[in-house]
Amino acid sequence: MLLDTPVTSVPTPLTDARRQLRQALNILEYGDDVFEMLVTPRRELSVAVPLRTDDGTMLTLRGYRVQHSLTRGPAKGGLRFAPGVNLDEVRALAMWMTWKCALVDLPYGGAKGGIAIDPTRHSLGELERATRRYTSEILPIIGPDRDIPAPDIGTSEQTMAWIMDTYSANVGYTVPDVVTGKPLSLGGSLGRATATSRGVALVAIAALEHRGIRVEGSTASVQGYGKVGRSAARFLADAGVRVICVSDEHGAVHRAGGLDLDALDRHVDMHRTVLGFDRADALAAGDALTLEVDLLVPAAVEGVITASNVDEVRARIVVEGANGPTTTDADERLAERGILVVPDILANAGGVVVSYFEWAQGRQTYRWSLETVEQRLRERMTAAWNEVLTHSIRHRTTLRQSAMTIAVARVYDAHLNRGLYP
Ligand code: GLU
Repeated sequence: MLLDTPVTSVPTPLTDARRQLRQALNILEYGDDVFEMLVTPRRELSVAVPLRTDDGTMLTLRGYRVQHSLTRGPAKGGLRFAPGVNLDEVRALAMWMTWKCALVDLPYGGAKGGIAIDPTRHSLGELERATRRYTSEILPIIGPDRDIPAPDIGTSEQTMAWIMDTYSANVGYTVPDVVTGKPLSLGGSLGRATATSRGVALVAIAALEHRGIRVEGSTASVQGYGKVGRSAARFLADAGVRVICVSDEHGAVHRAGGLDLDALDRHVDMHRTVLGFDRADALAAGDALTLEVDLLVPAAVEGVITASNVDEVRARIVVEGANGPTTTDADERLAERGILVVPDILANAGGVVVSYFEWAQGRQTYRWSLETVEQRLRERMTAAWNEVLTHSIRHRTTLRQSAMTIAVARVYDAHLNRGLYP
């Protein structure tokens, strides 16, 4: 039996994901049997990924794919290449995908995959071989009607193209819809690359307005300047927000009057880090989380706002661009302190929303215009924001509790309608 984790243990993404589910089920007044059913992934595959390196030696990597839920449709979720990837982390991320897809009402369950590999330490050829071998190992459980991978940390359009090609070569015909986040030339969607960031900026602006903070001239700090954080900073700045700090794993840069993002992006393109950008003050990476700002956007990895630094957070609103950046303990503390947290499953759902649009376009074999994609993304995100906000006001819950409750109820309702087989 999967016991609820004691509060004294060190939180991990998985213990936090389980606690969030437990809390949602308490609000919904569902019993332990429902918890056991919903907390247990439908399928987990753990594979060896032997890799022939460029110098001819062999490296055996570990890879995973977890399908947390298939109740509302095929499993959907990203593929992560990072050194610390492990089965428990993938389980947590897969569970979050289930709630995220349900919250924005996509016809999907949730999944996640990963390989424990540091992509920065491997050549393109090695990454291609690792991706193709991993794909062939998980081939029996993926497919456009089974489970559709997409990019996540450390993976890209190129990774998706290799997966699509490997899958297609094995089944004997071209199957673009087995992945999303593909290059445009292979059926990718316009607007997919920046979709997560667009969604983050959209709900961040809605949250500022909800709190009565004027968007024009409000201040923001963005922790993580990668796929999500970089464009989120840009969209916020375009809306009139003063982005005064951004960070990456190496350090942070700060300018009270607002960072010159054009100059910063030129610097980052050249040096692969914000460090050394001379039109701003240098700060330690962690300082991005504790500056006094209207808006804090953690957009890197899980578990960065924890019990040990939560009391130093001086933002008025936290918008979670990353998955699971706030531990459950820290989340409770932020709520006590009156800091509004827009949870990951809402804030960063824009990526999977446009993944769904990509899949839908693939099935129609008809490309939508960028305007159509962005308009429909806006509609989905705005609807989800309004629904979560209204629920949280009516039930006096946090936005996370409301988002979780809405999502979990939706998945359980689908389960009840399907019935339990046999
Ligand atoms: N990896 C992204 C996420 O965590 C996108 C998943 C997808 O598009 O399937 O939401």
